[in-house]
Amino acid sequence: MLTMREKFKRYIDAGFPIIYLNSAEAEKCDALIQETADNRGIIEWSAADGFWDMKDNVREPEQSILQTLNHINVDEEAFEEKIIVLKDIHPYLEDPQVIALLKKFALESLNGLGCNVVIVSPVCVIPKEIESYVTILELDPVSEAEIRQIILSFIDEQGITKPTNEFLNELVNSFKGLSDTEIQNILALAITGNGELYKSDLELVFEQKQQVIKKSGILEMVQVTESVDDIGGLENLKEWLERKAKIFKNIGAAQQFGVDAPKGVLIAGMPGCGKSLNAKAAAKLFEVPLLRMDMGRLLGKYVGESEANMRKALALADSIAPCVLWIDEMEKAFAGIGGSGGAAEVTTRLFGTFLTWLQEKKSLAFVVATANDITKMPPELLRKGRFDEIFYVDLPNIEERKKIFEIHIGKRRPADLKNINIDALAKETNGYSGADIEGVVKDAVEDAFANGKDKLELDDIKRAIKNTHSLTEIMKKSIDEMKKKYTECKFKNASC
Ligand code: ATP
Repeated sequence: MLTMREKFKRYIDAGFPIIYLNSAEAEKCDALIQETADNRGIIEWSAADGFWDMKDNVREPEQSILQTLNHINVDEEAFEEKIIVLKDIHPYLEDPQVIALLKKFALESLNGLGCNVVIVSPVCVIPKEIESYVTILELDPVSEAEIRQIILSFIDEQGITKPTNEFLNELVNSFKGLSDTEIQNILALAITGNGELYKSDLELVFEQKQQVIKKSGILEMVQVTESVDDIGGLENLKEWLERKAKIFKNIGAAQQFGVDAPKGVLIAGMPGCGKSLNAKAAAKLFEVPLLRMDMGRLLGKYVGESEANMRKALALADSIAPCVLWIDEMEKAFAGIGGSGGAAEVTTRLFGTFLTWLQEKKSLAFVVATANDITKMPPELLRKGRFDEIFYVDLPNIEERKKIFEIHIGKRRPADLKNINIDALAKETNGYSGADIEGVVKDAVEDAFANGKDKLELDDIKRAIKNTHSLTEIMKKSIDEMKKKYTECKFKNASC
């Protein structure tokens, strides 16, 4: 596969009219453009410095973006064999005149002008009118070797004590997913207190990483407190996750033995029956951070924005790996694939981006995708081999309901557990989801307290059951349809 650098050079040499470097790292982009330019001249426009012809060192600080684009279109010869760099112009890409001039330029460029426009911006905005002339590129994440080099150079420059190999490896791992600038900043911050690098500085890296994830707006780092012990039933799924965790934690030995790296699991099924709980428990079992991808937030208003968001989120997950990437309510993002109209096109492309990543993924980002309604999911996603396994989570059976009652009563009133007839409760709650049962226990505990009682009793819970409409009562028809579909698809049952 070509590196990003090689791709960029090829696009420039091949005369691609507009190349969009979607990155906040202006200095790295500058270096890349300089290195690729060879003998070509570079002309730059930015809101801060206006027009700048680097070769002839002509500066026109007052020149606007419109004047610059007009200039190119009028005086084509002056721009021949040049790279025109437009920095941070995303706010101007809503202006019809800017769009029209860029389109005019792109057409001229395709007619052999021998000049490329390179847009450098951290925000990806591509107006529909010029979509077919634009190629998006993102900088490769900083590699482990590069991170190591940044740390070692920093230590050299500052004249501080070289860390042990073990600590250096830990630092390298924890810096994964951050940019050059972010790594440099944290290193500088870390030595301000005591002039040296210490293990406690790893916390600083972790905090900074959370900032990066938050700023991405699409991923969220979820604090996990739940473990498999908090899940009643779903024994097949739990056992499967435990086996994958064993492989994940010993990946070196496992791969040497010939075992494939775990890719991910799709957990589909009834609402409120423990799908999210399993995503969280997986992260705990695997002993890695849990990243949740918000599919709703991915969908941007500009052409290419949604895919750029998704690529960024997936690259961030890759760079943070090992991690669990939880894709919640997957059907919401991928419903409507294959349909017609702008929204359907975006969804289809988004889906393509995701499938390619899943297929080619080399990192240890283990995907846990959860979905309620698979009838809306594209069949390509459900095909064997996409995920390591697809599980179907049904409403809890009687044994599972017993365990769920035990877990939720045990959490709130452990001392009362032994005096409550759990069998009777399980019998009375056929058709209730795990979330329904949790709700029943919560209501019963609140009632008992409000009535001035000093303990929780069977009758309190029975009353709460009577006052609760179960999931089955509320959505009988769609539950039956879902069950039929899961049986047809022959998904593995998460329960024994
Ligand atoms: P949705 O599809 O609506 O997001 P879900 O299947 O992801 O639902 P969860 O969020 O995992 O459901 O469950 C909701 C709550 O119900 C959990 O926080 C948990 O307290 C309780 N619950 C559900 N299933 C179980 C279970 N099997 N064991 C223990 N608690 C459960």
